[in-house]
Amino acid sequence: MNSIDTFIEQRTGGSNPQTSYGAVLKQEASALRGFLGQNDSFTRHKVFERLALPERIIEFNVSWLDDQDVVQINTGWRVQHSSLIGPYKGGLRFHPDVNLDTLKALAFEQSFKNALTGLPIGGAKGGADFSPKGKSDTEILRFCQAFMTELYRHIGPARDIPAGDINVGLREIGYLFGQYKRIVNQFEGAVTGKSRHFGGSHVRTEATGFGVVYFLQSLLKEQEQTLEGKTVCISGAGNVALHAALKAIQAQAKVITLSNSRGLLTNESGFTEEQINWLLENQYKHDNLLESAEQEFDVNYRSDSPAWQMACDIAIPCATQNELTLEHLEKLVESGCQVIVEGSNMALTDEALQAIKDKDIYFAPGKAANAGGVAISTLEMSQNATFSPLDYDAIDEQLQDIMQNIYRQCADNAIERNGKPDLHSGASIAAFKILGEAMIAQGV
Ligand code: GLU
Repeated sequence: MNSIDTFIEQRTGGSNPQTSYGAVLKQEASALRGFLGQNDSFTRHKVFERLALPERIIEFNVSWLDDQDVVQINTGWRVQHSSLIGPYKGGLRFHPDVNLDTLKALAFEQSFKNALTGLPIGGAKGGADFSPKGKSDTEILRFCQAFMTELYRHIGPARDIPAGDINVGLREIGYLFGQYKRIVNQFEGAVTGKSRHFGGSHVRTEATGFGVVYFLQSLLKEQEQTLEGKTVCISGAGNVALHAALKAIQAQAKVITLSNSRGLLTNESGFTEEQINWLLENQYKHDNLLESAEQEFDVNYRSDSPAWQMACDIAIPCATQNELTLEHLEKLVESGCQVIVEGSNMALTDEALQAIKDKDIYFAPGKAANAGGVAISTLEMSQNATFSPLDYDAIDEQLQDIMQNIYRQCADNAIERNGKPDLHSGASIAAFKILGEAMIAQGV
């Protein structure tokens, strides 16, 4: 066992490092092994070990009153992972499964992702073990206000700029920003993903999903292929999934699945733009959006249907972490899938990620492919700071350039495997170089 492996064992739970955080560190260490072997100065400066530990972790109590006037208590966190190349930046996630271990893993990945964008942003992640399911609008408001009443002192436009993530969308960002502004008495871009009525950017809502497809198009272009006529399976039915579907359909792909935690929506002849636009417009209006879509259109919803069983050329997981298992991977490869692009962060389980190295398939990790969201968040910050909003087309063009550039960095730094560039190693090496050089230059 080398010194990095020993370090990971010690810092992630001794003999049982099978946590998300432990698994992510191991994956990165393995992707970076060859690079570290040839870069003595990175090893001497302990770049990996120093990056493996977040700069700061903030944990706080979020107490709030529910609609029955009963006090509810949740835990909130902000993991400020790295400020090497810019202020901390990353989303907030509200979900009962949120815990510190997962947030540490996501914050670590966020620093790598943000470095790949080429923009001056550090990495962070945060959230709470709060379940928004079944909560009234007023309860969401009270929770967001209580959360921000604790968090505000740790953030700011030059310090840490949170944004949305799972279950934190336009409504929650509005409540969080409102509370921040009320407390600090300043209108400043300390939160991104805001409504365009008060400092939000064009394309921010679409950016992650569109960016995934722009990345995919760069990958296909290198193989002298396009999306035209390709069959695509997408999981999830939130912003990322629906905007990825829309962009893929506009590029003449046939998108045949979407999903939520309760079931699978299929359209074997391919969803139409009209159907995706209906889902986007009705996103928050139905108890089970996908089931309601079945009543509206000629599509099929099955609550017992397992994911990733349909044959496709391209799979785009856009739901949550660890959603694509080894079993799913085997099934996809068997059915002829040639490309998997992560729209969600850490979509593949650790086992699937290990196994994919030996498969004849392209794999694009989330930290590269889904960086479009945070990239446009950064353009939102710069529009806020300069009081100069940009128009839709200008931002969409920048998004395309950023995603092409991320693909280029991944491909240029990738190790070859099975005659294909291993884009996972490429993304890790490209980001690690940027962060490591900044770390060495800034001294211990
Ligand atoms: N939550 C998104 C991500 O995982 C966006 C973060 C941001 O805009 O700061 O990258």
